[in-house]
Amino acid sequence: MNYPLASTSTFGSAIARSEGVSVRLLVVEDDLAIQEFLRRALIEAGYQVDVAPDARTAESLAAEGTHDGLIIDLGLPDMDGLDLIARCRAHGNTAPVLILSARRSVDERVRGLEQGGDDYLTKPFALSELLARLRNLLRRASPGQNESTRLRIADLELDLVRREAKRGSQILQLTPQEFALLEYLCRNTGRVVTRTMILDHVWRMRIDPATNVVDVHIYRLRSKVDRDAPKPLIHTIRGVGYVLKDS
Ligand code: CA
Repeated sequence: MNYPLASTSTFGSAIARSEGVSVRLLVVEDDLAIQEFLRRALIEAGYQVDVAPDARTAESLAAEGTHDGLIIDLGLPDMDGLDLIARCRAHGNTAPVLILSARRSVDERVRGLEQGGDDYLTKPFALSELLARLRNLLRRASPGQNESTRLRIADLELDLVRREAKRGSQILQLTPQEFALLEYLCRNTGRVVTRTMILDHVWRMRIDPATNVVDVHIYRLRSKVDRDAPKPLIHTIRGVGYVLKDS
């Protein structure tokens, strides 16, 4: 099986909302030139970025619930972007949505905002305006309003403000270090993270990667997160590292 390795280059940004965690966006755009332009620009602006070229891919990525904001083009090959937004909302995704579309009429903009979009930008757009609108959306959505301060994968839920983790209805008794480790794994759901990446981002110091500090913490975390659960979420990729995923 191939797991994409999480990029280490997008962390530690100036816009990180809480220590060690950057803001993660999902860009849904089928025009690959625009998609790549946005991806690069947003990474440059300090965001972590996932991309999807169609609604189906977007829906499964959005279902991870790990995105702080969604940028959605309306003209997608397999579904109208408005329907995608409706489906994400129906699945409980409340991340703010910036609609990006060539549809310019007032009626269409109103419809987009009524159907779950939080802001609307018509193409062609200026990058500076997109970034400004995005910052506003994220600011409105962040502290105080719980949803964007929670991470959910399957029945695991992390409350980033209260620093509390639950599996199902069971509150997990985690040390701050274990919570930070779990948060890092959740932020990278579906991607393999190496011991070195974990040491860099969770311990935030250079430690000899040969140390077993990561393995020891993973062992303890696993006994708390996965022991009484119907299926494990934390998986070992032998010789590489760990991945948190729901499968
Ligand atoms: Ca399009």
